[in-house]
Amino acid sequence: MSEAALEAAGVDSYRERVAKQQPAWPDPQALATVVERLNNVPPLVFAGEADVLREHLAAAGRGEAFVLQGGDCAEIFAEATADRIRNKIKTILQMSVILTYGASTPVIKIGRMAGQYAKPRSSDTETRDGVTLPAYRGDIVNSSAFTEESRIPNPERMLDAYHVSASTLNLIRAFTHGGFADLRRVHAWNKGFAANPAYAKYEQTAAEIDRAVRFMGAAGGDFDALKTVDLFASHEALLLDYERALTRIDSRTGRAYDCSAHFVWIGERTREIDGAHVEFMSKIHNPIGVKLGPTATGADAIALAHKLNPDNEPGRLTFVVRMGADKVRDNLPPLVEAVRDAGVVVTWLSDPMHGNTFTSESGYKTRRFDTILDEVTGFFEVHRAAGTIPGGLLVELTGDDVTEVMGGTEQIDDEGLARRYETKVDPRLNHQQSLELAFLLSELLSQ
Ligand code: PEP
Ligand code: MN
Repeated sequence: MSEAALEAAGVDSYRERVAKQQPAWPDPQALATVVERLNNVPPLVFAGEADVLREHLAAAGRGEAFVLQGGDCAEIFAEATADRIRNKIKTILQMSVILTYGASTPVIKIGRMAGQYAKPRSSDTETRDGVTLPAYRGDIVNSSAFTEESRIPNPERMLDAYHVSASTLNLIRAFTHGGFADLRRVHAWNKGFAANPAYAKYEQTAAEIDRAVRFMGAAGGDFDALKTVDLFASHEALLLDYERALTRIDSRTGRAYDCSAHFVWIGERTREIDGAHVEFMSKIHNPIGVKLGPTATGADAIALAHKLNPDNEPGRLTFVVRMGADKVRDNLPPLVEAVRDAGVVVTWLSDPMHGNTFTSESGYKTRRFDTILDEVTGFFEVHRAAGTIPGGLLVELTGDDVTEVMGGTEQIDDEGLARRYETKVDPRLNHQQSLELAFLLSELLSQ
C-alpha cells in the first residue's frame, strides 16, 4: 500500500534523470537489501514537524524571524558523542540568544546535524604521495581512512547513518526539551574564560537576560515559553538511494515527505534543472533549499522556483547564496531583483563559507573570519538595496576549540591552524568564532 502510494506520488521519477555525485556501489544485491530495510524503518522526523518549520521559514522570508542554520560540514559517525553534540547545540543556542537579545528577533534554529553525512566532491579521486584512491564521499558512503579498502562504497553505511542520526536526534530532542535549553540557564552555557573577549561579551548579555527574566518572574510572567526550544534537523539531500528510502507518505495529507530530516537542500554541484536531485525534491513536501553559487543567473533561480515550488507557497523554498565575498555585491543583485520582479516567494539565506575557501601556505583548506563576515555584510547590503529580506545564515561550525578558520579575536594564523585542525572536509568556525560572528551579526540585523 505505502509503496503504491509513494509510486503514485511520483517519487521515483528522478530515476530517469542524471544523478551526479552518486557512489558506484559495487554490489547491487547488498544495496537492494539495505534499501529494503530502510524502506521499513520508522521515520526520523514527522511530516507535521516539517510543516511547522515551513511556517517558520515563511516568517523568516517576510522578515519576521531570522534563520540560524549551523553544524559540521560533514558529520562523522565516530564523533556523534554526547559531549560533541551538546557543544554544538550549546553553540547554536548561545548564538541565537545573542541574536534574539541583540536584534530583538525570533531565531529559527536548524542544525546541520543528525544526517549531514554525504559529501559532493570536486574530484572522484584523491592522490597522496603518488597514491591515487577513490575520494571520500562522507561517512554514509565510505571511510576517510586513506586505504583502498576504506574507500570502497559500502551500502551498510546507510544503515549506520540512519541509526547515528536517530541517536543524535534523540539527544537533540532531550537537550532542547528536557531542561538544558531553559533560558534561565543562559549563564551555564558559557564555557570559556571571561578573559576572552567573546566570552566576556556573552557573560554581559547573559547577565542582562537574567535580569530581564527575573523582572518578568517578579511581575508574574509565564515562563513556559522559555523552557524549551525547537532545533530542527537538516542536511544536503545528496545520496538519493538514502533519501528515497526514507521517504514516507503522510497519513494526514497523502503527500510524500523525506523523513530523514525536517529540511533538506540541493548543493551547488547538483542543482541542474533537469537533474535527478531537483526532480526528486520536486516530489517531496518538506521545506527545501537550493544553494546558488556565483554562476547562477536570475533565469536559473526562477526556473528552479517554478519547478520546486509551482504553487509559490511561502516557506517551501529557500535559496542559500554562496557567492564569495568578492562576488556577492556584483552577482547577487541580478538574482534577487529577478526573483523579486517575477513575484516568486523565497526565503534568502547567506552561506558565507563555501565561496571563501582556499588553501593556506602551510597546506590547510581554510577560510578567513573577516572574509566570512564581509560576505554576510554584502548579502545584507544587496537585500537592503533591493528592498528584499535577508532571512538568515548558514554556517559551518563546531562547539569545540578547533583551529580551522583563520582570524577572529584569537588571531589564528597559518601556523596556528596546525594546533587543532580536525575537519575531514571543510573548515569550521570554532565555538568562540561562532559567538563573535553572532555579535557582529546582531549589529547588522539591528541597523
Ligand atoms: C556544503 O554545504 O558543505 C557544500 C558542499 O556546499 P555547496 O554545495 O554550496 O558547495
Ligand atoms: Mn562544506
